[in-house]
Amino acid sequence: MERVPEVAVVGAGIVGLCTAYALAERGTSARVYESGVPGHGQSSGQSRIFRHAHDDARLVEFTRQGRAVWDEWADRLGAELVSRDGVVALGGPVPGRLRILRETGGISVRSVDSAELHARMPLLADYAGPAMLDEDGGAIRTRVAVESLADVLGDAVVTDEVFSLAPTGRGTVEVLSTVGRAEYSAAVVCAGLGTARLARNMGLSLPVQPAAHVRLTFQVVGAPPERVACLQDSSGDFGEVGVYAAPYPGNSRYAVGLSQTVEVREDGSFADSDALKGLNDRARAYVSRALPGLDPEPVEYLHCWVTGLPWSEDGMAVWEADRIFFVAGHNLFKQAPRLGRALAGAAMAEGLEENLRPAERLGRPR
Ligand SMILES: Cc1cc2nc3c(=O)[nH]c(=O)nc-3n(C[C@H](O)[C@H](O)[C@H](O)COP(=O)(O)OP(=O)(O)OC[C@H]3O[C@@H](n4cnc5c(N)ncnc54)[C@H](O)[C@@H]3O)c2cc1C
Repeated sequence: MERVPEVAVVGAGIVGLCTAYALAERGTSARVYESGVPGHGQSSGQSRIFRHAHDDARLVEFTRQGRAVWDEWADRLGAELVSRDGVVALGGPVPGRLRILRETGGISVRSVDSAELHARMPLLADYAGPAMLDEDGGAIRTRVAVESLADVLGDAVVTDEVFSLAPTGRGTVEVLSTVGRAEYSAAVVCAGLGTARLARNMGLSLPVQPAAHVRLTFQVVGAPPERVACLQDSSGDFGEVGVYAAPYPGNSRYAVGLSQTVEVREDGSFADSDALKGLNDRARAYVSRALPGLDPEPVEYLHCWVTGLPWSEDGMAVWEADRIFFVAGHNLFKQAPRLGRALAGAAMAEGLEENLRPAERLGRPR
C-alpha cells in the first residue's frame, strides 16, 4: 500500500486548508483530498464575518486566540485576510454579549451611540437601540484566504474523492479514494456535508443537522464608503431578528443573509420546497427597510448547504476514532486557522483539546 505524506486531510474547504497549513508550519506533511474545487462547498462566496461575540465564553476565548492566528498568517502570506473595519451588533442581546466579551478580556469592544454607529456603518437606516462595536472583528477575505492557502499547499491538494477511512490495526489509517489506497499516521475529516457520512462508516453517528442557507449580495448606492463594518442585527427593529451582513473587498458590494436556515431531509430534499425562496424574499425586504445605502435589487445569490450542531448555531466539535478526527459545526470560517492548529496537534498525537470534544458542546449558550 502507498504510504507517502503523514496525515490525510479530507476536504479542501477553509477548515481542511487551514489544517494542512498548520501541519506544514510544524513540518508535518499532509495530502488534502478534494472531490471538487478548493473552497467551493460551504466556504464559497466572497466574504464572511469575523466576530468575537458568542454566547459561550469558551468560544469567545477560542475566537480571540484565532484572531491572532489570522494576523500571523496574513503577515506570512502577504495578504489582508480580515478587514480592519469592525463588526457592529444591534439589539437586545448586546448587553449580555458585551459582558461575556469584557469578562474574557483582550478584545476591543464597546457600546456605541447612533452617531458613531452611523460613522462605522453608513449603509444602515436610523437606529437608536443597543449597539456595540467589535473593533477587531471584520470581513474575512474568503477568496484570498482559500486561494493563498491552496497556492502554498500546491501539490499537497489532490482532486480525488475519499470513499472510506479505516484503522489498519497497526496504529495507522487507511484511506480508499477514487484512484488510490494509501496509509497515513492519522486523518482529519473536514468534508462539510460529507463528514457525517464518512463518520458513519466508522460507526459514529454525528448529530449534524444539514440545512440550506441563503445570502444575497447588493450593490452600494453611489461611491463605496471608505470604511464599512460588518453587521449582526438581532434587534427586530427592521423586521428580522437574525441578520448577518458583510462587505466585499473594496466595499462596493454588501452581502446580507438571515441566520435562519431551511431544513433538509435525510435524502437532501427540502421539507418545504418554497422555504428557500421565502428566505430570499425576506432578505430583500430587510434590505429595503434597514439598509438604504444599498440598491435593494440583489446582484448575486449564494445558496449553500450548512452543517449545524443541535446545541448552537455557532457550535463545533471534533469526534475521534482510531486516529481519525471528524470535524463538524457551523460558522467555522472565522475559527478555521485556530481550529486547524488544534486539529494539526491532534493529528500529531498531542491529544485533542478538551473543549473540542463533543461532550463539551462548545458554543452552547451558558
Ligand atoms: C452563506 C453562508 C454564510 C456564512 N457566514 C459565516 C460567517 O459570517 N462567519 C463564519 O465564520 N462562518 C460563516 N459561514 C460558515 C462557514 O462558511 C462554514 O462553516 C465553513 O466554510 C465550513 O468550512 P469547511 O471547510 O468545514 O467545509 P466546506 O467548505 O464545505 O469544505 C468541505 C470540502 O470537502 C469536500 N468533500 C466532501 N466530501 C468529500 C470526500 N468524500 N472526498 C473529498 N472531498 C470531499 C467538499 O467538496 C468541500 O470542498 C457561512 C456559511 C454560509 C454558507
